[in-house]
Amino acid sequence: MTRVAIALGSNLGDRLGHLQEAVKQLRNNPLLEVVAVSAVYETEPVGGPDQDEFFNAVAIVNTQVSPEELLDAMQEIENAQGRTREIHWGPRTLDVDILAMGSLVMNSERLELPHPRAHERGFVLIPWAQVDPSFELPLHGRVADLAVRVRDSGIERIFEADVFDERNQDR
Ligand code: ATP
Ligand code: CA
Ligand code: CA
Repeated sequence: MTRVAIALGSNLGDRLGHLQEAVKQLRNNPLLEVVAVSAVYETEPVGGPDQDEFFNAVAIVNTQVSPEELLDAMQEIENAQGRTREIHWGPRTLDVDILAMGSLVMNSERLELPHPRAHERGFVLIPWAQVDPSFELPLHGRVADLAVRVRDSGIERIFEADVFDERNQDR
């Protein structure tokens, strides 16, 4: 089994609903075992055009699928939430990024692991450190150590992880 960290983000439409639906789809995939989901953080957009604040969360998953298969599954989840790609780093209903797959380091046309910007993003590191602080981010070090060094202004914990409990998912 490989331990995988997945970033979820939404700043368009029903932001919490999009994140909840994404977690539901991760749980419904028989090839993935969701072991933890973070709280939800409201975060100021970084880069891209002037746009609304994001809701961000991180899920930890165990799996044996290949990196490419995992990316396909994540893009299917994005597409099911009406994700379109018009503006680079622009507003989106749902963004699902693979932050890291165990200690794997790779760079193909479609997929770079670990995610090349994960180690410098507060909206990634703060939720990640909450659910898996001891994860060793390849090339960069322990997630907890990276998280304490990152800028945390503009990042506000807005919902606890129980919004992802199955019984709160009926919407
Ligand atoms: P950023 O990568 O800075 O977070 P983004 O999420 O807005 O930007 P997208 O437009 O969602 O970028 O994705 C562009 C492409 O990035 C995807 O089509 C995918 O092939 C590629 N990609 C490369 N590495 C990864 C990764 N680790 N996780 C998800 N997508 C990746
Ligand atoms: Ca992204
Ligand atoms: Ca993406």
